[in-house]
Amino acid sequence: MIHKFDVVIVGAGGAGLRAAVEIPKEYSCAVISKVFPTRSHTGTAQGGVCAALSNEEQDSWLNHAFDTVKGSDYLGDQDAIEIMCQDAPRAIIELEHMGMPFSRTKEGKIAQRRFGGHTKPEDPNDPNSKRVPVMRSCYSADRTGHVMLQTLYENCIKNNVKFYSEYFLTDLIIEDGICKGLTAIDMATSEIHTFQAKAIMFATGGYGRAFRITSNAHVGTGDGCALVYKAGLPLEDMEFYQFHPTGLWRLGILVSEAARGEGGILRNNAGERFMEVYAPTVKDLAPRDMVSRAIISEIRAGRGILGSDGTHYINLDLTHLGKKVIDEKIPEITGFARTYLGVEPTRESVPIQPTAHYAMGGIPTNYDTEVFADNKGTIVKGFYAAGECACVSVHGANRLGTNSLLDIVVFGRRGGKKIAEYLETAEYHAFKTDPKEKTKEMMSGLLSRTGNEKIPEIRRELQQSMMDKCGIFRNEKELLENKELIKQYKQRYQNISVQDKSKVFNTDLIEAIELGNLLDIAESVNESALIRQESRGAHTREDFPKRDDANWMKHTFITKNDSGDPKIYYKGVVKTQFEPMERKY
Ligand SMILES: Cc1cc2nc3c(=O)[nH]c(=O)nc-3n(C[C@H](O)[C@H](O)[C@H](O)COP(=O)(O)OP(=O)(O)OC[C@H]3O[C@@H](n4cnc5c(N)ncnc54)[C@H](O)[C@@H]3O)c2cc1C
Repeated sequence: MIHKFDVVIVGAGGAGLRAAVEIPKEYSCAVISKVFPTRSHTGTAQGGVCAALSNEEQDSWLNHAFDTVKGSDYLGDQDAIEIMCQDAPRAIIELEHMGMPFSRTKEGKIAQRRFGGHTKPEDPNDPNSKRVPVMRSCYSADRTGHVMLQTLYENCIKNNVKFYSEYFLTDLIIEDGICKGLTAIDMATSEIHTFQAKAIMFATGGYGRAFRITSNAHVGTGDGCALVYKAGLPLEDMEFYQFHPTGLWRLGILVSEAARGEGGILRNNAGERFMEVYAPTVKDLAPRDMVSRAIISEIRAGRGILGSDGTHYINLDLTHLGKKVIDEKIPEITGFARTYLGVEPTRESVPIQPTAHYAMGGIPTNYDTEVFADNKGTIVKGFYAAGECACVSVHGANRLGTNSLLDIVVFGRRGGKKIAEYLETAEYHAFKTDPKEKTKEMMSGLLSRTGNEKIPEIRRELQQSMMDKCGIFRNEKELLENKELIKQYKQRYQNISVQDKSKVFNTDLIEAIELGNLLDIAESVNESALIRQESRGAHTREDFPKRDDANWMKHTFITKNDSGDPKIYYKGVVKTQFEPMERKY
């Protein structure tokens, strides 16, 4: 079946829906999602969305921009960061007007809380005074993403956006540098649908499922990024993958930073508040890369707590917060501790370990979400990307908490506006060949494989090796070993068999496609990490422990060369007003 829309957005998370809301009603707009829209990952975001509103204490967008640049370990593009932080208060008020139910202060203003790496100068008259944590993150208890997603979905319905739920993106059609459309499978029937559009946006989210312990749901397989990579376009800064310090031990389910924002304390096996040593000023509210490294360092130094299965964890102590704060401010995450670990957070500490959480890297775009074909700024006509699958880059080497929900609403909106502008003169472009044929070939190729290799086994091994050899701490030896392993997994992938041959909700086939995508993503992350010989933000090389601005203040671009092997090149970082300095907290 062929569909024609002015614009097709793939992804019904915050980024995709915020863009869709912006498309004027005179244009036809479709949103495709492999899960029902309000089940997109944005719905799991707990802690907040940040903006320097100054509702609880004096703050400014410049404070926010400085923190974001510093948090990014100076790899974030400062022009894009300035746009995001300046636009943040407007974006929040707009969400409020769309109907998003924020938590409130006593005076009825939008309430704000502390999050890691968000600070202000202690003396407002002296920008160089010691920086102290600031209340900058707006929230709806610990269900911020959930209410944001519902609000945006309702606004899309009001705007006549057409939804294709449980449709799985399979191919991106770019011919002669022009993005012309895509193919997707209707998961209920396995029928292939071709979508022809004047503009396509990818808002397909992250790829935490490349790692074994992750906060991401099963859908986080990086399909959009993988298709871009397969299409011979570059991905940017893939080595910068964020581990969140507090995942529930062994499960990875997120315990939001809001828990520490409300006063939660990390403690080792001696009950010590160890973050005092690693980040004396902001302590438990240091940025995520630092807290994650501190936790692993404590465990490596024998100060972790031994779990029943022989692995170690760290305690998150919330007991002193009291029942009222726990019930009112962080009900969902403390509920998770009760449900999944049988721990009562009002009386007992919560066992945690770092969990793979957020992709700083992705599809390179300018700050209007237009996709770059190379490091020279060549634009792929008609192709846009926003949200976690994209790299603007506002998070650089390390994202600050609550800056992602902000990223998706600020750049989702900018993307929607840019597309609307483009549609004023844009045309449909004819396909040179029937795109359905390629997808048909891919599907029948997978279905006809009869090897002995099992999809879950390859996926499990890949996730484990990414965790062990390309995780929080990295070194050349292990990255080389992982490179070899990924090559072997790719070979074994040729030898899988898809057991289910039926057409109705063939999740076996979908998982086969997703595994193929994860293998490409893992290759791009590992290769980018192998080549960057320095430590910056979330990328920690034990064999190159220092940040090296002289050689590495640049964005990594990775693409496939003609023989299909990864090829790396670079792009400069945009600097405006913030001079790089050592990152101390
Ligand atoms: C547990 C958790 C808590 C978080 N808490 C916070 C927080 O408090 N504050 C904050 O700022 N950030 C938070 N984050 C990060 C933030 O939620 C995400 O980065 C953000 O929501 C991503 O939004 P998105 O629109 O880019 O993608 P998503 O919301 O992930 O949506 C991706 C969409 O793409 C679709 N899709 C993907 N592949 C395909 C395909 N092949 N075919 C069709 N559709 C496809 C999916 O169906 C989905 O609709 C959290 C993340 C997690 C995991």
